[in-house]
Amino acid sequence: MDFTLSEEQLMIQQAARDFAQTELLPGVIERDDAQKFPEEQIKKLGELGFLGMMVDPKYGGSGLDTLSYAIAMEELSKVDASSSVVVSVNNSLVCWGLEAFASEAQKQKYLTKLTTGEMIGAFCLSEPEAGSDATSQKTTAIDKGDHYLLNGTKNWITNGSTAGVYLVIAQTDIEKGHKGINALIVEKGTPGFEIGPKENKLGIRGSDTHSLMFNDVKVPKENRIGEDGFGFKFAMKTLSGGRIGIAAQALGIAAGAYELALKYSKERKSFGTEICNHQAIAFKLADMHTEIEAARLLVYKAALDKDNGNNYDLSSAMAKLFASKVAMDTTVEAVQIHGGNGFVKDYHVERLMRDAKITQIYEGTSEIQKIVISRSIIKQ
Ligand SMILES: Cc1cc2nc3c(=O)[nH]c(=O)nc-3n(C[C@H](O)[C@H](O)[C@H](O)COP(=O)(O)OP(=O)(O)OC[C@H]3O[C@@H](n4cnc5c(N)ncnc54)[C@H](O)[C@@H]3O)c2cc1C
Repeated sequence: MDFTLSEEQLMIQQAARDFAQTELLPGVIERDDAQKFPEEQIKKLGELGFLGMMVDPKYGGSGLDTLSYAIAMEELSKVDASSSVVVSVNNSLVCWGLEAFASEAQKQKYLTKLTTGEMIGAFCLSEPEAGSDATSQKTTAIDKGDHYLLNGTKNWITNGSTAGVYLVIAQTDIEKGHKGINALIVEKGTPGFEIGPKENKLGIRGSDTHSLMFNDVKVPKENRIGEDGFGFKFAMKTLSGGRIGIAAQALGIAAGAYELALKYSKERKSFGTEICNHQAIAFKLADMHTEIEAARLLVYKAALDKDNGNNYDLSSAMAKLFASKVAMDTTVEAVQIHGGNGFVKDYHVERLMRDAKITQIYEGTSEIQKIVISRSIIKQ
């Protein structure tokens, strides 16, 4: 088994690392404080090809593999998870979903703009009464011949106010259960489509999370993705790949906090020596380093499964479950290693700790990942 990254993957890693240091780090604390969306940073990420990384260049994408995308996600997330969640949603939920399942006309119309950052996208599945239980969709898309009439509310939508295009999951035929669900492309500004106030969040505060309201929104039939009734499958397949992006985000948050803690532990002195020389601190660093490496291997395995055409439902769920726990554990310990300084904003680790929590919740909570994993291993 070869763990060596290719020259291209190393180049992408370096480019993402440089971007994180030069473009994301300045102002990251202020953006978190003010809940300010990283607009300029996302624009630049689009120009550099980080928003449509896995998409065919004929649609403006970078034509890279999933592993390259995961590597870039790790590097960006070490510094700013509010920016990296935009990268993740746009790449794995919106661009990948459209490239894999949309019609050629839909790709030409939307994907070409989403890959370059001319606009960003949102993925709209969750509802006030349908989170983990995504089959309980209350949003309806009633077939009216040449269009669907969309009514309902979506919750917690990343890029809620900043997106130009929204992939909305809705129930067309209640009798058919999840086989009666469709995925529709809805443009911002369509009459009847309203955006709720921004959520005031614990972490990833720079990201733009809103509820969305649809009141008799007319969506042309040609905006349906795939066959009638394909919407739930579309959502599940897309989320399976999305979990690789979020696992890589969790890995990056953990690695970022670890790097800060290691550096701090070599500088801060107590009892006449650098604190890394106290075994209690050294062992924390040893655990962090080992767990991060294990998380990285799970993330890479899931990405390679996807790249090699293997089923990646199990490996992506395991990668997300494990990496998000490592993110939580590592960031808590990074704060501890920083002592009082860990508790204030200037040292970054408290923000990383707050950001880590969301990786155990979105794109399927840790409990849901365990359901996916246990079903898969019991079936085998
Ligand atoms: C910042 C943020 C951004 C988000 N971005 C998006 C987005 O862009 N698009 C989108 O569609 N959604 C998004 N979400 C929604 C997110 O995916 C949901 O919050 C998540 O899936 C959980 O759903 P819920 O909040 O309704 O929790 P619930 O489903 O109500 O779960 C509550 C608790 O019960 C547990 N639970 C539920 N069912 C089971 C079960 N069968 N077995 C064991 N435990 C169970 C859960 O694990 C959880 O601990 C976002 C959420 C947040 C907070």
